[in-house]
Amino acid sequence: MTETLFQFFLISQVRQLANDGILGKSIKLTKGQAQWLKENSRFKPTTTNKIITCVNHILKFCKVQKIFNANDCISRLELRNVSGIEMFLKGHIKTFSEDMKRKRTQKELHFIAKKIHEREEKVSENLIIALKELLGNENVITDLNERRYFSQDVFDEGKIVTAIIQPKNLEQLRKAISIITNTGIAIYPRGGGYSYTNSYLSVTDYGISLDLRKLDDIIEINTKDMYVTVEPGCTWEKLDKELKKYSVRCEFWGPLSGYKSTVGGGISQGSASLGSAKDGISAESVLNLDIITSNGEIFSTGSSAQKNKSPFFRNYGPDLTGIFCGDCGALGIKARITLRLQNRATMTQGLSFGFETFDDLLNAMSKISSTNRVTECFGFTNRAMESVMASQGLWNDIKLMFAVGMSSSGIFGGLIQASKMAFYGRRFLKDASYFAHCVVEGYNKYEIKGNIRTIRKSIKGLGIDLPNTMPTVMRSAPFAPYPVVGVNGTRMLPFHGIIPFSKAVEFHNELEKLLTKYKKDMSSVGMIVPAMFNTISTNGFLYEPVLYWPDKPNEFHEIHTNETILSLMRKNSENHAGRKLAKILFKEIVSLMHKKNSVHLQIGKVYPYMTDRSSINIDMIKSIKNKVDPNNLINPGTLGL
Ligand SMILES: Cc1cc2nc3c(=O)[nH]c(=O)nc-3n(C[C@H](O)[C@H](O)[C@H](O)COP(=O)(O)OP(=O)(O)OC[C@H]3O[C@@H](n4cnc5c(N)ncnc54)[C@H](O)[C@@H]3O)c2cc1C
Repeated sequence: MTETLFQFFLISQVRQLANDGILGKSIKLTKGQAQWLKENSRFKPTTTNKIITCVNHILKFCKVQKIFNANDCISRLELRNVSGIEMFLKGHIKTFSEDMKRKRTQKELHFIAKKIHEREEKVSENLIIALKELLGNENVITDLNERRYFSQDVFDEGKIVTAIIQPKNLEQLRKAISIITNTGIAIYPRGGGYSYTNSYLSVTDYGISLDLRKLDDIIEINTKDMYVTVEPGCTWEKLDKELKKYSVRCEFWGPLSGYKSTVGGGISQGSASLGSAKDGISAESVLNLDIITSNGEIFSTGSSAQKNKSPFFRNYGPDLTGIFCGDCGALGIKARITLRLQNRATMTQGLSFGFETFDDLLNAMSKISSTNRVTECFGFTNRAMESVMASQGLWNDIKLMFAVGMSSSGIFGGLIQASKMAFYGRRFLKDASYFAHCVVEGYNKYEIKGNIRTIRKSIKGLGIDLPNTMPTVMRSAPFAPYPVVGVNGTRMLPFHGIIPFSKAVEFHNELEKLLTKYKKDMSSVGMIVPAMFNTISTNGFLYEPVLYWPDKPNEFHEIHTNETILSLMRKNSENHAGRKLAKILFKEIVSLMHKKNSVHLQIGKVYPYMTDRSSINIDMIKSIKNKVDPNNLINPGTLGL
């Protein structure tokens, strides 16, 4: 058996058992594994037995040492290669039965733990020195407050990372990745840090946060072949501003967090918003990727994979680009991203409608999306509308009125809209329970009018017309600094499911029932649950409940929130019960979503991706992971890997 196969098989056994929560018990081969070994003539039964013996010894040892996590097992016992495994077995097999008979005392266990800790500390100290040499002191951060901040996302926190590195070019990035993984320490890639699914949070005792924001160059804007290539740390706002100069735009052109969030983050975890009603999610605009594996090698997908590189086209044979979109960084580090361009429309017009019932809202959004005439189509419950409007501070900002005037269909049309906005204010919130807002684009007023006519016709008899304040303002400042907390000083947990239109009403009704069941618990922690909706191209309905509850801010919130909201938040006491309830509701609601065929973007470490895949699907993902990151050192735990 070759070294890699032996190691792979052994380690995957350990990992599988850890995933199943039974590290510490002995193993039996499954029928499939036995068959696999039998069919492969190179593996004699003695070898198979040897593997089982090895794995069993390792697992028993883990039990004695109270190691219940595969990564800890592999790094603590130094099982990263065959010689490591042999060393371990030499040292332990003979004495093992003795060990089992004589359970170690607490003192002995503490001593062993201390030794392991000291060795790991030494490795990480040496690693920091090497990284400082490579990147310069200023690009390797070890300050505790910073490490704490980088160990938190919008909702949760992970283990505190050992250091944060900020490479400034591709060579530094490649070398840093290879140096870190050689020590057996995990890397957690991070873009703007604006996600809430533990996606870049550490799950290992030692871990390096890879902050990619200094790699933010726009490498090439090609208006002939209609693509743009960027480094991963470029924000969507920066990219869009630059593309505007060339009168072009990306198809999916950013999440609403795009003033901070990055192209690398959006493509890695999957985003929906600007452009999604017409062109789908972030992944659908990607042409080519350059990806760095855990040993620092770089490879390209799509037409860039050829010897004569040009990143202009995605498909040539099986679509490799797609596999790495939505991986949440588990399948390597994206170093360059090429996105498709389209001409920028010269005119936009917002449309707003109000509805009494969710059924009517859904029906209308479904009909609008199937016309494929709108670039964005958002829906809101009444309460969600209030918070979005408040978060933009819309009503006091006279400058915004002028911005609106300039960005919509001509200055005159814009001024009419601006005055309508001023006249209606927020009174229309009383007129309906649900709202839909769309944006229509075109190159002249006839095209815009034609599109609007088609849309109105498609939803005839549904809902009422409202002033188009909301889509107009959203379009005039698409990357407004939306807060990472509720405007009244609450913490928030947004989450979503993309559900087929045909199942969305059933889901909505069951969600209402569930929320009624939890009404008392929610009111005891002060929680409310407004919801937002998005159409994704013609065939997906994104349902996004957002949980808000009063709570204290953490370091992450302190950095990303303005003083007015922070002063409200600081008055709250720690609301552990609120956070606990948020996790319970997340689980229950996601499980309801799954019953209605839901899928998710932004899987991170929280959506149950692996639990409802078929085994062949899981094997395929795992074998790709094994190819690009055999020791699971790039964002371990993500996607359930
Ligand atoms: C106020 C607010 C508004 C939001 N609006 C939207 C919205 O409209 N639509 C939407 O879909 N989401 C939205 N989000 C969620 C989130 O901001 C976006 O999905 C965004 O794309 C995250 O990008 P980021 O750069 O912050 O990524 P991060 O949070 O830093 O990372 C996300 C994931 O990508 C991985 N990653 C990052 N860069 C790389 C890389 N170069 N290589 C490999 N892996 C990498 C990370 O490991 C992590 O798993 C919003 C969040 C907030 C707080």
